[in-house]
Amino acid sequence: MISRLGRRRIQKQIEGLNTNDRVALFIPSYYDCPDCGYDEKSGAGKNITCLTCNGTGRVEVWATAYILGRVAWTDVGRPRFSGVVGTEELGDATFETRLANKELLEDVRDSEKAYIEIDGRRLRVMSVDANRIEGKTTTVARCELIRND
Ligand SMILES: [Zn+2]
Repeated sequence: MISRLGRRRIQKQIEGLNTNDRVALFIPSYYDCPDCGYDEKSGAGKNITCLTCNGTGRVEVWATAYILGRVAWTDVGRPRFSGVVGTEELGDATFETRLANKELLEDVRDSEKAYIEIDGRRLRVMSVDANRIEGKTTTVARCELIRND
């Protein structure tokens, strides 16, 4: 007999098959320290003992965005596309989403520390491409798991 919680979980999984995957994007921005400020000449904080910025003159603020799309994990040893494609070419996962999300994903790709999170796993965006299929253009991002956690 399936417990009430178990049944709810199964129901959720069934619903999950029909809905889009939700992916979280984490992007850092850097601002001049609000307490001491950034000194252009020294390339550090105006107060090198400042606790807010640790003397760097910059503070990091993380922005989070959630976008919907379709996630496909790369099945190692069973290429999903024709021909033999190495995983280093495909990455660990591909994420397909609306074209409107392209710039956001490019921001993640271009930022050294930015990452995306899928199913609780952190991934780095390796490439972002526009993909045109049957007259519809989408954005496809190839992602790689961040393994040194
Ligand atoms: Zn400071």
